[in-house]
Amino acid sequence: MTGTAVFIYSNDYLKYSFGKDHPLNPVRLQITYDLLTEMGLLHDEDIVSPRMAENEELALVHSPEYINAVIEAGRNPKDEDLINYELGTEDNPIFEGMHEAASLIVGGTLTAVETVMEGKARHAVNIAGGLHHAQKDRASGFCIYNDAAVAIAYLRKKYDLRVMYIDTDAHHGDGVQNIFYDDPDVLVVSMHESGHYLFPGTGDIYEQGTGLGYGTTINIPFEPFTEDESWISAFERVVIPNARAFAPHIIISQHGCDGHYLDPLTHLSLTMKSYEEIPRLVHMLAEQLCEGRLVALGGGGYNIWHVVPRAWTLLWCQIAQRNAREELPESWVKKWENISGEKLPKTMSDPADLVPPIPRRKEIMEKNYITMNRVLRQSVMFF
Ligand SMILES: [Zn+2]
Repeated sequence: MTGTAVFIYSNDYLKYSFGKDHPLNPVRLQITYDLLTEMGLLHDEDIVSPRMAENEELALVHSPEYINAVIEAGRNPKDEDLINYELGTEDNPIFEGMHEAASLIVGGTLTAVETVMEGKARHAVNIAGGLHHAQKDRASGFCIYNDAAVAIAYLRKKYDLRVMYIDTDAHHGDGVQNIFYDDPDVLVVSMHESGHYLFPGTGDIYEQGTGLGYGTTINIPFEPFTEDESWISAFERVVIPNARAFAPHIIISQHGCDGHYLDPLTHLSLTMKSYEEIPRLVHMLAEQLCEGRLVALGGGGYNIWHVVPRAWTLLWCQIAQRNAREELPESWVKKWENISGEKLPKTMSDPADLVPPIPRRKEIMEKNYITMNRVLRQSVMFF
């Protein structure tokens, strides 16, 4: 473990599984790991095994009643009281051992934080993490425990650091926002498809924090069919100046790749361009502002064959400063075509002729531009 970045991974991550018909299929982690390995971008010495999170660590953000409910659910899936915690719903089905599986993902993000804080690596990546919807006392949106929030609370408690959380998943990072809504030392920034059109419905520009934390929540909601140009320019024009003004000690970033035009659950029109550019900018910010301290997490991403492996290979390459070839290895393509029964892409970037045209492109860009300017005007002035 000597490189600039480490990759937190274990096959036990695959136990976080809501069943084969659920959109969050853990195979997406395996296919990504396989692509990274086949491309020679990830080696044994880059990999660190995740530890389990302790229940006391989960309790930094989750209520003891909720943690007990998750433990109970994993042991006795028939319990009817669990619905109060949004366990056993269509989004968050109960499965055996769910507490342990979810605790390992939180532990993975804590391992990432510890590796960076102990100076063993400058950056750490945990693609199983980024479960940003989980709330203090309930599950939400495929998320049982909120690994990002536990990691931030751990950094606040153990090191008293100023933490910046950057969430570029297609969905609003509502769980993390709610948990740190009044904390002036945690800047929570979320870029997402507008809540008018997409779960969880929140993330309006007027949600800016409360009490001492007023101004340390920033939301940038985007129109459906938003393309790379609006997405990347919002990061440059809004996220970067706010990051500089806030001057964090460490950045925790969430890289859900469900804003891709092929994602079945959302309506954005991003391409691999965004999934290369955003990690590049996040990495740059960590180097400029935080002496490199960066923990990068996965998140959503429901086109598990075509999008997730490429997007998170690009994520790792930007963070670990490695170059991915444009051609995907034939052996990888063949193997996963057999498993998925689908025709898989042969290149890292999206073939230009396959990217669908964007309806009302000009109107969408103008609306996004207006939103960006509003957020910019009401945000940087706080620091
Ligand atoms: Zn998402």
